[in-house]
Amino acid sequence: MDFQNTLAYAQGLDAKDPLTKYRDQFHYPQVNGKDVIYFTGNSLGLQPKRTQKFVEDVMKDWRELAVEGHFYAEKPWWDYHERLAAGLAKIVGAKKEEVSVMNTLTVNLHLLMVSFYRPSGKRIKILCEEKAFPSDQYMLQSQARFHGYDPEDVIVEVNKREGEHFWRTEDILNKIDEVGEELALVLMGGVNYYNGQVLDMEAITRAGKSVGALVGWDLAHGVGNVKLALHDWNADFAAWCSYKYMNSGPGNASGVFVNEQYLGRKDIPRFEGWWGTKKETRFLMQPEFDPIETADAWQLSNPPILSVAPYLASLELFDEVGMDALVAKQKQIVAYLEFVLHEIDKEVESTFEIITPKDRGCQLSVFLHGEGRPLFDYLMKNGVITDWREPNVIRLAPAPFYCSYADMYNFGQILKQGILTKN
Ligand SMILES: *Cc1c(COP(=O)(O)O)cnc(C)c1O
Repeated sequence: MDFQNTLAYAQGLDAKDPLTKYRDQFHYPQVNGKDVIYFTGNSLGLQPKRTQKFVEDVMKDWRELAVEGHFYAEKPWWDYHERLAAGLAKIVGAKKEEVSVMNTLTVNLHLLMVSFYRPSGKRIKILCEEKAFPSDQYMLQSQARFHGYDPEDVIVEVNKREGEHFWRTEDILNKIDEVGEELALVLMGGVNYYNGQVLDMEAITRAGKSVGALVGWDLAHGVGNVKLALHDWNADFAAWCSYKYMNSGPGNASGVFVNEQYLGRKDIPRFEGWWGTKKETRFLMQPEFDPIETADAWQLSNPPILSVAPYLASLELFDEVGMDALVAKQKQIVAYLEFVLHEIDKEVESTFEIITPKDRGCQLSVFLHGEGRPLFDYLMKNGVITDWREPNVIRLAPAPFYCSYADMYNFGQILKQGILTKN
């Protein structure tokens, strides 16, 4: 595509964009009386305008019905979470029985490891990427210790090659082969939080299973961002948070995927609670656990309805638009952002080095060589919200729901000004 770095051209792309009308469905922080250019939807998505009503409905039902709301609210609370499964299943490429919403992400990864990390004999190792998201590292280390191992003996990291900023699929597959029958579990971030790389989840899942390991995915940066096909890939499990690309609010509930082969089974190791037992008999308060025949069997507690409500609001938006349309816009807007960066790079002395490989979703991670923290502050003061990592990496995620092509052009101009005026 022949892009141009002009406002008129960017506005032309917006005029043709079927998602332009969704910009108006979100609230934007204001800087200098104007909507910001928001690049941090990979960290915390913007608030959809419709979310407030979903939360208020719960507050109203609680106010007016109190305990009766469990059964007589307009959306009764006792099975409120079930309303999310169908929409989420479409987003992650699963059957709706394979999906549930509960707890938060790290908690769910721990709970899923209870079921799916069962080291025995020499099959004790866990494969992950080097420099995984810290919470994932702590989780894996503490799981290893919980099972009585030294994390050093259990955790195998796949490294990037010297001088490269991304993982090569062949290196991951070779490592899986090499660890072979000592490999109990592959657990990786499907979309890397730092460089924005999308791993070849299908090939890695296949390879892990072919050596007899189980395979799980942390999809914090994948869900609502890239096309996923967890069921067809035959992943064993996955979990994700809802507050990044899914726009469900700070710290909000996590989703999980459990492959259908594990559903309805009583023989599976699992930490259990009353919300995982069949709802038909739940209130008989019987001592024996009878697992729901869906991923809901992994639920322990009755869900926090005030958290699940914003997630439902967000899923309604995703359902209206569909992942295909989101991914189509995302590819184009990220390509346009890349183009704008290259154009600005020609006009300034600093050099931009994009470390995100071509296998990417919504995010570009960029080294701004020759720049530092003052540039970040300049961007913030001028209404561009980005994520800055010391010393000079900027992560830019133009979420297709609410970022425009004009935003990309305007960002380029502000960036150039910030560099030329030496911030
Ligand atoms: C954002 C993120 C998390 C966050 O975990 P919480 O339990 O929701 O705080 C975990 N893992 C990855 C890879 C992330 O990107």
